[in-house]
Amino acid sequence: MELLQSFVFELMPDGKQVCDMNKFEGSCRFVFNKALAIQVENHEAGNKFITYESMAKQLTAWRNSVETPWLKEAPCHCLQHALKDLDRAYTNFFSKRAAFPRFKKKGSSGSFRFPDSQQFELDQVNSRICLPKLGWIRYRNSREVIGKLRNVTLSKKDGRWFISIQTQREVEKPVHKSRSAVGIDVGIARFATMSNGEYIEPINSFKKHKEQLVKYQRRMSKKLKFSQNWKKAKDKVQKVHTKIRNVRKDFLHKATTEISKNHALVCIEDLQVRNMSKSAAGTIENPGKMVQQKSGLNRCILDQGWTQFRTLLDYKIKREGGMLLVVPPHHTSTTCPYCDHVSKDNRKTQALFLCACCRYENHADVVGAINVLERGYRLLACGEMVHLGLSVKQEPSEVFQLAFN
Ligand SMILES: [Zn+2]
Repeated sequence: MELLQSFVFELMPDGKQVCDMNKFEGSCRFVFNKALAIQVENHEAGNKFITYESMAKQLTAWRNSVETPWLKEAPCHCLQHALKDLDRAYTNFFSKRAAFPRFKKKGSSGSFRFPDSQQFELDQVNSRICLPKLGWIRYRNSREVIGKLRNVTLSKKDGRWFISIQTQREVEKPVHKSRSAVGIDVGIARFATMSNGEYIEPINSFKKHKEQLVKYQRRMSKKLKFSQNWKKAKDKVQKVHTKIRNVRKDFLHKATTEISKNHALVCIEDLQVRNMSKSAAGTIENPGKMVQQKSGLNRCILDQGWTQFRTLLDYKIKREGGMLLVVPPHHTSTTCPYCDHVSKDNRKTQALFLCACCRYENHADVVGAINVLERGYRLLACGEMVHLGLSVKQEPSEVFQLAFN
């Protein structure tokens, strides 16, 4: 089995390299935003979606244009990759896996990728890497990079630059130690509830740090913009954001490690993240109502990190030799797992499920999780094509072997 792995290190660039990396990141962001603006305009005019190939041709024209001469200074592959990123964002949107692509803002974070391994050279002995138009950059070498190099991504976080080196290598397919299968229902009151009744409390890292954040944001708003004191205040705000992110990341890692070690087959609902965190502002054709209130709820939902939860779960389960199965989400919260009676009356309150037909009673989230697992079993048994993990489609028979051989 092929294993993809990323190795992340902090870079130690010199002044010129920092300057260039900022420029390249800005150019990639520009290309992404410009292409997105063109797609939106094109769609409004009633035209067909512009493919990556024809957009890439336009990129050549932008690079040669007198209006944007600085685009030429950035590595071409990185700019092309920015277009690929947008293409993938659209694909995810079309297949209802993600919200509509958003314009990238200039800020303390950002990234760009060198997609071609022919273009860079890694010198692990001297802890340095050679990249097009940047030359040799040193990095804080903390572990050995193993496998065949695929691509590198440079990213900026709060003024520091990091490199993620992705490699590929052949490993023996692991056999999962457990034979247990579980369904998971995610929610706001409980982060994740499992069909066996266990559940994980939410972390709400944003809520916990909200007061701190508001305090520093207020302080920042009182300072003169771009002054030294304003910059200091801004740093504080960013530090709280970093803290929020780290607390959440830690939580998600712990939760997904435990689940993937204990269960060989994990079933989870599809689309839930997008449905629940739909853009409050709505679309151009269909503007949203109560935008302010909803964006508060959206923040709460995004704060849970369900997308990241699924991504982590997917790769950790595969690493253990198990499988993540994504099932369609219809009526999982209103179907009685005992008699199959479907009704909204089964769920009079948020927390309690009480079947109007057979009086079966359980916690509503546990019922949701049981239905998700049930649906997963049905998909495996009945021969339909199933949605495996995040993007792969596979025959159920193969899927079944994956899970239990
Ligand atoms: Zn019932």
